[in-house]
Amino acid sequence: MSSRPTETIASGEALAGIVARIAAARKAAVRPAPFTTLIAVSKTQDEDRIRPLLEAGHRVFGENRVQEARAKWPAMKRDYPDIALHLIGPLQSNKAREAVELFDAIHTLDRPRLIDALKTEAARANKALSLFIQVNSGEEPQKGGIAPHDAAALIAQAREAFGDNLKGLMCIPPADEEPSPHFALLLKLAREHALPWLSMGMSGDFETAIKFGATHVRVGSALFGARG
Ligand SMILES: *Cc1c(COP(=O)(O)O)cnc(C)c1O
Repeated sequence: MSSRPTETIASGEALAGIVARIAAARKAAVRPAPFTTLIAVSKTQDEDRIRPLLEAGHRVFGENRVQEARAKWPAMKRDYPDIALHLIGPLQSNKAREAVELFDAIHTLDRPRLIDALKTEAARANKALSLFIQVNSGEEPQKGGIAPHDAAALIAQAREAFGDNLKGLMCIPPADEEPSPHFALLLKLAREHALPWLSMGMSGDFETAIKFGATHVRVGSALFGARG
């Protein structure tokens, strides 16, 4: 133990701490989702901060930029072929091909053109990705995501394009608001459209999201420390 770098130990401990908090929140929830997957959000973190989590057995990671993911992950994927990479940031249609190659799940479908581009590229690569539609639950103009009242049409289009690979909904509540109403709205929309997965909850509110049925929580700073 004493020969290992301090950071390795700290990261494994941080991971165990978050995993325990997720388990406790699921236990306390009245109707938790059938599972809650921890997505370790590794954006801006370099390889030597990520590898300790891999060594501790964690395999599910989130990145918000295609370019950064392309630079960081191929080497680690060679060492750990069972890594699952989730794209949680906005995606331009002209990067759809690269995104399909790199990622196993995309959380940010929010417009018809992007659905078309991803459909083309997923078919071309013969790759089944898990897909989420991002809902702009706070209707913030600067934020990605489809407005709640337009979600039904986009969900229908995505279902037509991807069938059962359209898995769920994702939201990022406004930073200055109580997140519960946003999680509740996402849960309601998912139920109305029979979508099984909900990507919601970050470092500050993942336990609340679990109360509302989160299947995927996206945790960065609580695992890695504050981003610089
Ligand atoms: C950065 C980011 C997170 C993680 O945020 P933390 O507060 O550091 O846990 C989650 N989701 C998205 C979409 C992000 O961009």
